[in-house]
Amino acid sequence: MKYPLSLKGVPCNICKLKAEEIIMKTDLGNIVRCKNCGLFYRSPRLSDEDEIRRYKNLGYDDAYCEILDRSRKDLYLAVLEEIEAYKGKLLDVGCADGYFLGLAQKRGWEPYGVEISDFYLEKAKKNLSEKSVFGVPLKIAKFPSNLFDAVTLLDVLDHLGDPRGELDEIGRILKKKGMLIARVRNGAFHVLLDRLFEKNVFGIIPVSTVFHLYGFDRHTLAILLKKANFSNIRIENSKLTGGNPYCQTKYLERYMINIIKRTYSAFAEVVSLLSRKNVLISSSLMIYAKKK
Ligand SMILES: [Zn+2]
Repeated sequence: MKYPLSLKGVPCNICKLKAEEIIMKTDLGNIVRCKNCGLFYRSPRLSDEDEIRRYKNLGYDDAYCEILDRSRKDLYLAVLEEIEAYKGKLLDVGCADGYFLGLAQKRGWEPYGVEISDFYLEKAKKNLSEKSVFGVPLKIAKFPSNLFDAVTLLDVLDHLGDPRGELDEIGRILKKKGMLIARVRNGAFHVLLDRLFEKNVFGIIPVSTVFHLYGFDRHTLAILLKKANFSNIRIENSKLTGGNPYCQTKYLERYMINIIKRTYSAFAEVVSLLSRKNVLISSSLMIYAKKK
């Protein structure tokens, strides 16, 4: 397979080694797995600067925003419930249109967001305030050290070029004992799903890939968080949202995916319970950790 010249090979973000095996070849760069730690990631891929430029200019529309916000409201309320005791300054990294931060503000949080998409940035500034939202990547925002009581990254970490560097920066700007909550797609689940659908195992329902730059699992997330000096690490299956990232267009296909999602999620929860949260096979994972 030939790649555009702008795609470049990268080392594992956790080990900094280039000891990968190719798991899948795609037009967006290979999905590889680090033989040392097991992290799934894309390599070769666009440079971090090109990725940021791509997100900055991505087109969305108001109807899409509304559907996404509605489908995630229960998840967002559960996150706010989890961090209720830390109430103070809350930073949401990749805050999109600011809907989650708006819910937080109503519950007494002082909201801050960073968002690199121009479309979302404008909406977030309208929904919150001009001074609450910053249109740059987190490291460029240069927040003071020990500022935030809680930081959230909801479906963001696996889109970032340098998750390890991002968690180091979050560790710097969180107060001591401050709370980090993140939601990521479960890498092992999505790599398996992509491989099954690439081979057309299920045949009837078209599915688009939902693997971004990284695919984390319980093991690689724990290594990453420990390296970034977080403690009290808890990783578990995520609550199911009403959204559909698999991009079916026909009503019947969407309906079938919804039923499959709910059935699989219930099964994943049983596996988690029986294994005392050691085997996490749901499509997304939640991470809770504290700054030491
Ligand atoms: Zn590695």
